[in-house]
Amino acid sequence: MERIQNFINGVFAEPTKGQYIDNYEPASGQVYCQIPNSTEEDIEAAVIAAEKAFPIWSAMSGEERGAIMMRISQGIEKRMDQFVAAESRDNGKPLSLAAHVDIPRAVSNFHFFATAIEHVSSESHYMEGVGVNYTTRKPIGVVGCISPWNLPLYLFSWKIAPALAAGNCVIAKPSEITPYTAYLLGEVIKESGMPAGVLNIVHGTGQSAGDAIVKHPKIKAISFTGGTKTGEYIARTAGPMFKKLSLELGGKNPNIIFADCDFDDMIKTTVRSSFANQGQICLCGSRIFVERSIYNKFKEAFVARVQQLTVSHPSDPNAKMGAVVSKPHMEKVLSYIALAKEEGGTVLCGGHQVNLPAPYDNGYYIAPTVIEGLAYDCRTNQEEIFGPVVTITPFDTEEEVLMMANSTQYGLSATIWTSDLKRAHRVADKVHSGIVWINSWLVRDLRTPFGGVKASGVGREGGWEAMRFFTEAKNVFISY
Ligand code: NDP
Repeated sequence: MERIQNFINGVFAEPTKGQYIDNYEPASGQVYCQIPNSTEEDIEAAVIAAEKAFPIWSAMSGEERGAIMMRISQGIEKRMDQFVAAESRDNGKPLSLAAHVDIPRAVSNFHFFATAIEHVSSESHYMEGVGVNYTTRKPIGVVGCISPWNLPLYLFSWKIAPALAAGNCVIAKPSEITPYTAYLLGEVIKESGMPAGVLNIVHGTGQSAGDAIVKHPKIKAISFTGGTKTGEYIARTAGPMFKKLSLELGGKNPNIIFADCDFDDMIKTTVRSSFANQGQICLCGSRIFVERSIYNKFKEAFVARVQQLTVSHPSDPNAKMGAVVSKPHMEKVLSYIALAKEEGGTVLCGGHQVNLPAPYDNGYYIAPTVIEGLAYDCRTNQEEIFGPVVTITPFDTEEEVLMMANSTQYGLSATIWTSDLKRAHRVADKVHSGIVWINSWLVRDLRTPFGGVKASGVGREGGWEAMRFFTEAKNVFISY
């Protein structure tokens, strides 16, 4: 069986203790490769390599670093088919999704930050008759990037690219559940001419390899995307060490639909915002609030469309939805459907596991599920499910829907559907979230701030926000 390797100091390496973990293919439920179960010894080796590389990498001009990163972007693009197949196999998502979203975005992430570094400028603040301040921004040193399984290379590269562009050396850990494209990235890095030790990719569990990154005293900043509980643990552990922290955490996003919206556009987009990537995108709108006057019309049209979504194995060209990422995750999602029923919800469609014929009969498939009749404050409507499950709830007034939308501990994104311009701005202003889409969903401009409020995280990624996070500012004052 294939064993993937860590990528440390420019070469592929076995884990120091020689231990491996099984990696499952969600489509079939079968183990198809093994990954290093890395420990603090591997993180230590990566930190030593990164520290050695830092003076070389940080002394390069932005243009030189950008040129290497551009080769990484092109290197992924050249192997597009290989990356797409690997991402789909590792995660369970349809091939078409990996081909249209995940891997092109990883290409763009490296491209975007490779060029961004050439446009960074410094600030100066003039004090009339007194003097002038100027502010430099320097790379931090060795930083850690930890990413989740839902958009594996997409989110891995979203962190690594700005960290590298800013001149840092990186210790990066992908999710143990979806490590394969991060492994392939090592090959692209080798071909790009990046100096050894600049980017080190260490595989393994959160409890072992992840924790060792968080606790390592020489890793000065942690950029983390994942669940709120893990984020809380990282903040508690790294905070007292005065590490810089960027935490992109969970969500329970509201999708607010007013009667005056463009109904066809809204329905089409709402099917996507509910079930894209099997509902496993932190930005999916899992709580759908519909103005009462169109509630029944919405329900009928929405359920009819959802029932047409084909759940199939990821390589089926007809698949609109593939497998969820793992058996424990499938069981968690199914347990929330059972909870919704206990809480008085009515399942309008889905609500069950889907069994495909062999060789996919042990895969992790769930029918897209729509539930109504639940109180806005029940557990199903408050806790993150992160799967193909949405609830629909009617509302009568703007105040009422804002109260329900803002009632969770989360605040990542929100979607608003209306053709009343004033209302669109008013609701966008009052909804508790870091990202709002009006009459759209998941339109992403890499320059914009990305992140959430409340338990959805601390800090912002994207554009200059990311470049600021991965640098330290120093202000110098010169007296006249
Ligand atoms: P987890 O929090 O379980 O894991 C995220 C990463 O952290 C993984 O690489 C994991 O490793 C690692 N990890 C786990 N425990 C520790 C630890 N103690 N110390 C250091 N690292 C650790 O999240 P999931 O992978 O389950 O991802 C789903 C979550 O991510 C959802 O809550 C979702 O909302 C959120 N998310 C947020 C986004 C945002 O931008 N706000 C975007 C996408 C997802 P391993 O898996 O190997 O154990």
